Amino acid sequence: MTGEENRFIRQAAQIADWLEPYIKNGRLKHSGSGEGERSSPNAPSSTEPVSIPLISALEEFDHNLAQELGIRKAVLEQLDGRSPNTNVPDRTTGAALLSQLLGDAPQPVVEHTLNDFRRHKAVLILLKATVAGHPARRCPAGHRQQEPWERIPANTLIPASLLGGRANQLVCVHPECEAEDGTPRVISPIELMTGIHDRLVTAADLGVLLGCSEPAARARIRRAEAAGHRLPVIDTVGPAGSAKNRWRLGDLLNVASIRRGLGLAP
Ligand SMILES: [Zn+2]
Repeated sequence: MTGEENRFIRQAAQIADWLEPYIKNGRLKHSGSGEGERSSPNAPSSTEPVSIPLISALEEFDHNLAQELGIRKAVLEQLDGRSPNTNVPDRTTGAALLSQLLGDAPQPVVEHTLNDFRRHKAVLILLKATVAGHPARRCPAGHRQQEPWERIPANTLIPASLLGGRANQLVCVHPECEAEDGTPRVISPIELMTGIHDRLVTAADLGVLLGCSEPAARARIRRAEAAGHRLPVIDTVGPAGSAKNRWRLGDLLNVASIRRGLGLAP
């Protein structure tokens, strides 16, 4: 397992720690201040009771971490008599130990465990957003609640500032939008425009968007098709003899080079 993958467990533990004081106080305070976050919610004032999803998400994380550590310990004891001390004082230590012990586990086990913690991380970040007064919005990728991410809420788009990113940017925290290293995907304003994915464009339209000529845009479409992208022509418009093919912009946005050309995140 690489360090990049370990990150999911550590990140989930950090967010759980951030949320912990809210449980201790038993009350929630919404900042509602727009941008940014309060760095230390040590003394949230009493405005409303702490939510059940928050309590159960933290409990579930802690339970899952302890359970995984117990399993790794049992496996190692059986394999070679090693008996690591899994009685950890806090989540950070637990996350580090689990990452370390997973290093010896078979790949399918590692993947299953990491997926669990990617899910925990997404759920906890979304709770953090709610606590900070920023309810999540729907990601244009239209994530569905299905295996292995079925318990991640449908709305996964939150202000980047909540994760230390730039103000005025939105990021999607769903694992499907996440980069390999756990970085959430920045969603550009163009992607948030409703219906953009269903818009039909000609090669000339695409050229305007990309800042290139129509033949160059057409060549990019051909190259993407040659590389295996399915880019069906939806219809043709214009006078007979010079009718133009149109493609669905959403299909074209699946092509990495076209996304980059439009200044969108990979
Ligand atoms: Zn997304």
